[in-house]
Order: sequence, then structure tokens, then C-alpha cells
Amino acid sequence: MKIQVLGASGEVGRSGFLADCDGTKLLLDYGVKLGRRGVPPEYPMHVKPRDVDGVIISHAHLDHSGNVPSLFMGGATDAFATPPTFDLSKLLIEDMLRIGKNSYAFDLPEVNNMMRNGREVGYREKVRKGGAEFQLLESGHVLGGSTVLLESGGKRVFYTGDIKTNGSRMLREADLDVGDIDLLITESTYSQSEQKPRAESERELVDFANEVTDRKGTIFIPSFSVERSQEIACILKNANFKHRIIMDGMALKVNKIMFKHPDYLRDPRVFAEAINGALEIREHTERKKAMEEPCAVISPAGMLVGGNAVFYLQELAFNSKNGIALVSYQGEGTPGRRLLDTGKVQARGKELKVAAEVKQFSFSGHAGRSELFDMVGKIGGNPRVLTVHGDADSCTKFASEITERFGFKAHAPSAGETVDV
Ligand SMILES: [Zn+2]
Repeated sequence: MKIQVLGASGEVGRSGFLADCDGTKLLLDYGVKLGRRGVPPEYPMHVKPRDVDGVIISHAHLDHSGNVPSLFMGGATDAFATPPTFDLSKLLIEDMLRIGKNSYAFDLPEVNNMMRNGREVGYREKVRKGGAEFQLLESGHVLGGSTVLLESGGKRVFYTGDIKTNGSRMLREADLDVGDIDLLITESTYSQSEQKPRAESERELVDFANEVTDRKGTIFIPSFSVERSQEIACILKNANFKHRIIMDGMALKVNKIMFKHPDYLRDPRVFAEAINGALEIREHTERKKAMEEPCAVISPAGMLVGGNAVFYLQELAFNSKNGIALVSYQGEGTPGRRLLDTGKVQARGKELKVAAEVKQFSFSGHAGRSELFDMVGKIGGNPRVLTVHGDADSCTKFASEITERFGFKAHAPSAGETVDV
């Protein structure tokens, strides 16, 4: 088997690997790095659709799924993923096309073509395609998210995609029972930093929500629509938060997708109770009315880039009674990052100082340093290791630490590099 790396390690945003399994060519992910402020989107190295026998989508995040529809321009191939990954990918890719009009080579017909050629695969289901056999395993990272265990010619490759080995309130732990492996392709996002235990972050968020509402303020929680919004609702519900929980924007569409796939949740009952107990905003007229009393507002976008979060920010940011809880990663150059760095937001055409109390909380969907090393320690055999999906330092240091600790040959690959397995 040969694996070609289509996006460089040392960056996050355009994942893609081409596996040649005795002549059967399978893509593992095909993502897009979103452009911001006039910067065009970036893609993994180009692969001709007719040269591919199938694409396996590890999970719905756009840096792994966003360029898959380009394989369906004037042709088609098999797309393999779990049922929630297909539903969430469609939602996120359509949203990407709506926001970045004409920035992409493909459009809605290609997304529909991708869905028509979708082959739904459950966790641990064995799929044979030409000279390859593969399984999708639970990754604990996002609803329906998977790792990929690929076998061909007696060799076994384990690709982590994005992984959160401990799972979360919404998702079960990652399935790491993979046996002996010849090549491990591992994400490296937080290989150089530890993460706060989830329980601690949850407690801090609940304390902040109670403090704000005790002083008759409203707590605004801008949040990623996929799962983070739902996780926050579950955390508040579980802590018997006394006030109303309002959910808005694209999170509501994700609620529906999550209700459709209860088997992929850690505890569907806990999820249903939290979401059914929340007030879902459907009409603009309901928004102001809903905020008449102290409450918690959960609304995308998580980095305040758009969506109804912008409306809530204008309404809530300039009253010191209120609180803003940032629970998502805040990318460089985003309004959320600016708010954290300067305490200011753009409003009414100006940069204005925010009066509400702003706090950041750690709720990453990625494994931290210890989790990543524990994961590598559970891999059997003497695998060669490729460290990808992290900044340059996270990938190269992680590779040398893996060699030091486990004796495995490891490196951070460049775009275009091919590895023989
Ligand atoms: Zn991801």
C-alpha cells in the first residue's frame, strides 16, 4: 500500500490522503481551508475524480469534508461515511457555499450528487472496495465522527482523523481496539498542551452562568452549531440551571440531525431532555421577547463571525450585568479573538468597548497531550507514524517525542510526500 499526503502537516485546514491499495485508490478526507477576508480558500493537492475509486469522509468538519463535492463535478465516485457525517457534511457545506458565494468550483448540484452517491457505513462495519478493506471506528470528536482502519495486502493503516479519546458529555470514548498497525497517521493539534479536564470547565461555566443570572443579567454563549451548542445546553440542564435556555440559528438544524441519530450519542435521553427543555427561536420577533428575563442564550457562530450571534452581541454586549462565555476555539482574525484580545467589538460601524463580563472556557473536541500519548501507547505493533493536523511545532515535536517514548519511526510529512507501507 502507498499513502500520499495531499495537505501538508504543520497546518490545519485541508486534510487529504490518497491510499493506493493494490490499484484501488481511496481518498481519506478531502477538506478545505476556509478563506477569510478576501483570502481564497485552500485545498489539498488536486486529484482527478476519475483517478479515485472512492472517498472516505472521517467526519463532517469542513477541513475534512469541504472539498469532497469537487469529486462530483461531471462525474461521480463512491463516498463512504457514517449517516450523521453525511447529514452534517451537507448542512455545513451548503452553509459554506451560502456564505462564500462563488468562491468554490462546485455548487449545490455537486453536493446533491455527493449525497446520491453516499454509501452509509456504521461503526465497525467491514467494507470491501477492490483491493482494500476498511472500517470506521468511533472517534469521540464529533457526532458520527470516525477514525479509519484500512487494510490491504496484509498491511494495516490507522488514520485518526480528528480524535477526542475521552469523548464528551455527548459522545462516547474513542474506540482504540485496533490491534497491530503498520502505519499510524495521527492528528497533532494539541500534542504540546494539556487540556483542562472537562468536569472542571463545566463547573466554571455553570458558576459563571449562575453569577450572571443572579445579578439579573443574561449569559450569552456564542457556540459552534455542531454539537458544542447542544453540549452546553446539556451541561446547563444537568446543573439544574434555574433560568430559561434559549437556542438559536443553525444549532436548531443540528438538533434535528442529532435527534435523527440517537445511536451515535452517549445518552440520547439526556440530550432529548436538554433540547426539549430549551426554547428554540424560530422567528425574529421572538428574540427580544425571549430575553426579557435573565436567561442563557446559545447561538452560533462560535467565533462571532456571523449568524444570529451578531444580533445577540449587539443586544447584550453593552450592559455590565450581562456575561459572554466563549466556549469555542477563537481563530486568528475573528471577532471572537478580537473581543478576547481587546475587549472590543464592531458595532454600529465603530469599534466599541464591551461592558459585559467576558470569559473563555476550554471545551475542545480534540485530544490533549496526555490523551494523544495514551492513544499512541494503545496501538499494537511497531508502526511507522505520520504526525499531521497541527501547527508546525506540534507536528514535528510530537513526531520526535513518539520516537523517543515508543521507539516508532515518526515524522511530520510534507504535502505530496508518498509513504510506502
Ligand atoms: Zn474536526
